[in-house]
Amino acid sequence: MSAPVLLEARGLSKRFGAHVALEALDLTVSAGEVVCLLGANGAGKTTTLNLFLGFTEPSAGTALVDGRAVVEDPAAARAKLGYVAEVVSLYPSLSGAENLAFFAELAGRRVDTAERDAILSRLRFPLAQIGLPAGGYSKGMLQKLGLAIALMKDARAILLDEPLSGLDPASANDLVAVLREVAAAGTALLVSTHDIFRAKEMAHRIGIMRHGRLVASVDPSTLSAIELEQLYLTHMAEQAA
Ligand code: ATP
Repeated sequence: MSAPVLLEARGLSKRFGAHVALEALDLTVSAGEVVCLLGANGAGKTTTLNLFLGFTEPSAGTALVDGRAVVEDPAAARAKLGYVAEVVSLYPSLSGAENLAFFAELAGRRVDTAERDAILSRLRFPLAQIGLPAGGYSKGMLQKLGLAIALMKDARAILLDEPLSGLDPASANDLVAVLREVAAAGTALLVSTHDIFRAKEMAHRIGIMRHGRLVASVDPSTLSAIELEQLYLTHMAEQAA
């Protein structure tokens, strides 16, 4: 039996006035799958994530979460989604533990310490630091806490907006491995990134976006990193032309 499709865009489009931010996007992300969206600034990646989250309404087409149209019931869609922003905002003076308890409760979950620590261990978050103020955490630690919040609420799909930006190579490498593991456990991941090489390591499928259009969808295992970069640059050069 094939894995269920948890995120689906059907002809998904978004205009801001005369400006086309997203044009007729067709895309699926299944349980266990990592799909990365690459594209220059303004290509429509964040708009795509925002449409799945119901933060903005489509001008045409449909965003579906676990088979249900987001516009019909945005709260139900969000209940199944985790969202890890580029900058994970926690209460800086509260500890990691207090932040996790707060955000889990917001999502209607009460998570005991054993379950919380099991999630943090899966994410390779340094458990000894969970009692320290979140304001002192590194970006990589904050990304992991964002993921922990998503896992604590039992999100079936997680959307990540440029999770790798600003991470040092070791932290980026670690986060990529963690994301692969989270997906392997059955979660669908849709990730926007500018990092072509990490996208190749992480993704089962890579979408290249340009001016709001998905111009290529590739299986990264069929290309070398250099070939992928070349493909990306070719599409970006067409953009400039
Ligand atoms: P980046 O890599 O910089 O995050 P992106 O691929 O995520 O870029 P989007 O943020 O989705 O791109 O933006 C797509 C286009 O839509 C851009 O031209 C942007 O200026 C425009 N846009 C996005 N949000 C709005 C808005 N609320 N009002 C008007 N235009 C918007």
